[in-house]
Amino acid sequence: MVKVKRTFPAPASLEIESKKRTGSYEKPDVIRQLRDDFHNKCYICEMKNLQDPEVEHLLPHKNGKYWDRKFDWNNLFWSCGHCNSVKNQKKYDMGIIDCCKLDPEKVIFFRMTENAVAADAKNENDVSAVVTAELVCEVFNKKNTGLRDCKTEMRFQELTREMNLLYDNLEEIKKHPDSKFVLRKLKALLRRESAFAAFKREYIREHAERFPQLRQYIE
Ligand SMILES: [Zn+2]
Repeated sequence: MVKVKRTFPAPASLEIESKKRTGSYEKPDVIRQLRDDFHNKCYICEMKNLQDPEVEHLLPHKNGKYWDRKFDWNNLFWSCGHCNSVKNQKKYDMGIIDCCKLDPEKVIFFRMTENAVAADAKNENDVSAVVTAELVCEVFNKKNTGLRDCKTEMRFQELTREMNLLYDNLEEIKKHPDSKFVLRKLKALLRRESAFAAFKREYIREHAERFPQLRQYIE
């Protein structure tokens, strides 16, 4: 999860639809603006170019019980179907981090071990960071729940592939510290808009002394 810049004004249809009894928060202008603002990347797992994008409510509207939340532009997020369904649990109802307002990288360590994701709040008393880290782990790590496991496993494989791409380019830059070509590739890999950016950026942050020339790309 990385910081996302939400654009304003809110899509016009939200105001219009909120006045209808069966209004929709998924009109084309909302979809377009969300997809662009979030760079077509799930805000929870950071998969890119989603096949199954969904409009996710940061704070649940409970089938319209909280009508204002349903059409509130600040409450709408771009997510994949998998993360949306995993997040649909009571423990996440009180609110995970709002990545449009707060930089998740400042409060969570996004790390990966050989066979699991290990996201941890930097401060264990920071409740929303703790809950968010738990959610990130949950969407990547297997739990023996059948079909859902295929999707968590697939995400973990995609993350592994992207991390390997980073490691390969880091090997290259060690061999050719001034290669503009490799630096350009690393810059692209470390952009917030890229897939699984939080994990790649965290790796660079933790190995900053080995790659001082990359520091500028994670600021
Ligand atoms: Zn996702």
